[in-house]
Amino acid sequence: MTSTDSTHTVLATVQPRLYLGGQWCPAEEGRTIPVHDPATGQELASVADASVADGLAALDAAAQAQADWAATAPRTRADILRTAFDMVVANTEEFATLITLEMGKPLAEARAEVTYGAEFLRWFAEEAVRVEGRYAVAPDGRSRLLVHKRPVGPSLLITPWNFPLAMATRKIAPAVAAGCTMVLKPAALTPLTTLLLTQVLEKAGLPAGVLNVVTTSSSGKLVSGLLKDPRLRKLSFTGSTEVGRRLLADSASSVLRTSMELGGNAPFLVFDDADIDAAVEGALLAKLRNMGEACTAANRFLVHESVVATFVEQLSSRMAELTIGPGIEPGSQVGPLIDEASREKVHELVEHARRSGAEVRTGGFALDRAGYFYAPTVLTGVDPDARVCREEIFGPVAPVLTFSDEDEAVVLANNTDYGLVAYAYTRDSARSMRLMERLETGMLGMNVGAVSSPAAPFGGVKQSGLGREGGREGIEEYLETRYTGFADPYA
Ligand code: NAP
Repeated sequence: MTSTDSTHTVLATVQPRLYLGGQWCPAEEGRTIPVHDPATGQELASVADASVADGLAALDAAAQAQADWAATAPRTRADILRTAFDMVVANTEEFATLITLEMGKPLAEARAEVTYGAEFLRWFAEEAVRVEGRYAVAPDGRSRLLVHKRPVGPSLLITPWNFPLAMATRKIAPAVAAGCTMVLKPAALTPLTTLLLTQVLEKAGLPAGVLNVVTTSSSGKLVSGLLKDPRLRKLSFTGSTEVGRRLLADSASSVLRTSMELGGNAPFLVFDDADIDAAVEGALLAKLRNMGEACTAANRFLVHESVVATFVEQLSSRMAELTIGPGIEPGSQVGPLIDEASREKVHELVEHARRSGAEVRTGGFALDRAGYFYAPTVLTGVDPDARVCREEIFGPVAPVLTFSDEDEAVVLANNTDYGLVAYAYTRDSARSMRLMERLETGMLGMNVGAVSSPAAPFGGVKQSGLGREGGREGIEEYLETRYTGFADPYA
């Protein structure tokens, strides 16, 4: 089969409709949204464009299914997730092709996303049967205290476009495990992977109404309609800090439980005692995974002044050697950015840095070809107040700054409203401990360029978010704690 054949086959497999109460339906008003390939700019497919009424129909279905789903045996919920895990893994190539087509990342990275994304299904299959409470004798020795967990209830899950499979499974799997029903709204730019995942969950035996999926070009209106509805009990959002802030404000009126996975501005610290070769490898991973379109992407490289020349030389020459091209082509190492607006913003940040005195060591331009490609770029002599250091770049651009001692490195690293992740390279274990305590981030990669793991609590502090996804903490976001006090059984 040629790659064009496999592209057609995978696109033809996707149900481009809304999934409401176990039925695949067109949008109420019959409208559709086109989905484009960022490597060519061409239309790949179109999906249903849900109205506010469609969103409410999805919530109707979720609300109706909630009681039965909460009463379903944890083992049954676990088995569905485990079956879905096996099915996603068995269809790795199909999922990876779809991710690459609609999002742009190279196929090898898309396969890695399938492995990562599928793992949430397996992890939470294992967690579903381990929800526990506690029983205690009150301090006065008389009454008894019983604490148990209940599913929060119908949840709204909103996902971004950059990891269309993993961001969906990271929310769906713990919600299913906890016994919550849900309405999922994927990003309009990359809905196809989520629809294929929904088909898998349906085949794995997820009952009608547990998962409802709405694709829409009017997120603001549809979501605001749902947030006002008292049947909704939870919002889990992954996306930009700007939209997250607005949704938090809107959630206040009905006092919703919220989980917020927002933007980042990760510092990547290289100390004078670091293994520089390892630091360069880590930097390539932390910067170029997903073409830099990751909340965990290294946004600022802070390098000790005594090693900066070597680090920059190695990083620039490695970045300049990479093969840029459509992710679907074998050998492509850097794919396109998601759209023209994103590419323009990345270039604007580079130009602003240049005007503020930065030197471009490699890259610094958009490629003159179809699609939204941008050359991997290294900037030195960057002003810490330049926009490229303050804003989330979301592109393959590495601004390098220097520091002269650990205190200065920590101040620079913490000089941001964000606090998702930091990376640090040092051979000094006491320094590693100090950094663990002093860096204001929810996650820290110590001598590694990637931290994401389904078994670890993913999330940020400061304006990078609230709550955690993955790990033992992930299921807690979908559970509420209830307490019952019992009278003294001997009285
Ligand atoms: P975004 O513009 O905030 O969109 C995220 C999601 O919210 C999409 O589904 C989007 O739908 C929806 N949305 C947009 N405006 C909305 C509104 N007014 N009301 C309700 N929903 C709305 O973010 P993005 O550009 O897709 O994703 C990139 C951002 O996500 C970056 O900031 C990145 O750091 C962050 N991110 C964070 C994590 C994390 O775990 N912390 C992980 C991945 C990404 P439409 O597609 O229809 O606009």
